[in-house]
This record gives sequence, C-alpha cells and structure tokens, in this order.
Amino acid sequence: MQPHSSEAIVLKAVPHGESNLVVSFLCREQGLLRGFAPGGRNSRKRFGPALESFSSIQLIWTAGRGDLVLMKEADLLDLRTGLRTRLPSLALAAYACELVEKILPHHEASPEAFLLLHSLLDTLNLTGASFEVRMLFELRLLRLCGYEPHLLHCSECLGPLGGEMVLFEAMRGGSLCGGCAGPSAGLRVSRGTLGSLARCLHSPLEAFAGFRFGARSLSEGGSLLSACVREHLHGALKSLSFLDKVMPAGQPAEARIPGVRGDESP
Ligand SMILES: [Zn+2]
Repeated sequence: MQPHSSEAIVLKAVPHGESNLVVSFLCREQGLLRGFAPGGRNSRKRFGPALESFSSIQLIWTAGRGDLVLMKEADLLDLRTGLRTRLPSLALAAYACELVEKILPHHEASPEAFLLLHSLLDTLNLTGASFEVRMLFELRLLRLCGYEPHLLHCSECLGPLGGEMVLFEAMRGGSLCGGCAGPSAGLRVSRGTLGSLARCLHSPLEAFAGFRFGARSLSEGGSLLSACVREHLHGALKSLSFLDKVMPAGQPAEARIPGVRGDESP
C-alpha cells in the first residue's frame, strides 16, 4: 500500500484497547484525518512522544479501514513544551484543537487552517494566551470555513447600519440594520467593536502579536464570536467550560504579548 508522508499537528489521541491509540490530526496537505496507531501507547520506537496533543510531527501512514488511516511512524518536530506549563495556554490549545476537529470538513486540504492552528500553538508555546489571541483565532477560523459574519453592513439587506449600537444575531448571519432587525433577541454591539473585528480580518493569518482590544471590545467581541462559533457547531465543545473558567470572557489578558500598540491595533 502506498505510504503517505505529511507534516501534521496532533489534535487528540484517545486510548484504544491496551496499547493502541486513535489519533486525530491536521495535515498540511491532506487536512483533517483520523488514524489508528497500533502500539501507540507504548511503542517508543515507532512513535516516541510524538503523539501528544498539540505536537507538530512528520507522519507516515497508509490507507486503513473505513475512515481511519493506518499510522506507521511519526517523528516529533515540536512538542511545544512551553504551552504545557501554563494553564490558560493549555486550555486555549485544547479548545482550538477541538474546535478545528469539529468545524473543519474531514479529508479536505486547507493549508490556511493548518497555518492558522500552527501559528496559534506557536504563540501559546512561546508567548502565552490572551483573550485577543482567542478572538483572532475564532474569527479567522470562521472565515476559512465560510462562516464569516457580516460586520459592517446588514447581513440581510446588505445596507448600511444606523446608530452607535448595532443588533447582531449569529443565526441571521451577523449585524442587522434597524429596518431588518425586528423584535430580535440578538446581542447589542458597538460600532467600535465591529470595526475592530473587521480590521482584524485584514491581518495575516499567522499574526497574533501586538493586538490590543479595550474592555468593551473584549466583552462584546467575545460574546459575538462565541455566538457565531456555537451557531456552526453540532453539540457542545468539551474543552469550552474549562477555557471559560481559566480565561473568563472580557478579562484582561493572562500574558500580555510584547510589542505594545494602541487600543485595537494594528
Ligand atoms: Zn437590513
């Protein structure tokens, strides 16, 4: 059987039987895959410590049975030990990996999603977590999946938004003008927050340093993005309650990233 080789990020490894693992991973070229690692729990020779969640690896596999590929060997490229020593970084890494696994289609190449997750994990490993980092990741991932919310115009009539406060409803695609809103129970979000999020979408996928939001944008933007993420998932994320406990919405960042800029930069 033809072996394949790719750089991959380990999302999750679940024990299977006494010695095996079932591993979810995101490949640079092949997208989201699940693999069976025979002896993965104790085969130091074939897999070493490479099958830890959040690691980057070079993986060799062949076609397996059904949905599962058969993992042959994995070489560790980066264990990202730094992110394992800080609770907020660990919680955000677990959330990001679970979100990627639930929201991306399987077996579809997405080099951009790979770059985004790789850059996020590197940031958590080297610098630490912040609420801005979480929001940037959510916003960019939503866009890559085709779920980008309408921010600066009405999601229904595409017309301009009136007033300083705007109604936002994730189920209806985003911001709503006064004429379309109706008796909506959506979120009320300031124009400033919508503008900050829209500007973030113009930044490179891999850029996480130097972003600062004010308290209001952190709170409103966090709620808005959480509503959008929930809208496009089937079922709850196991890692979310832990993340919300460790890094509550709208709180100042745990580890500020050096390179201070003004509010809502760049
Ligand atoms: Zn409208």
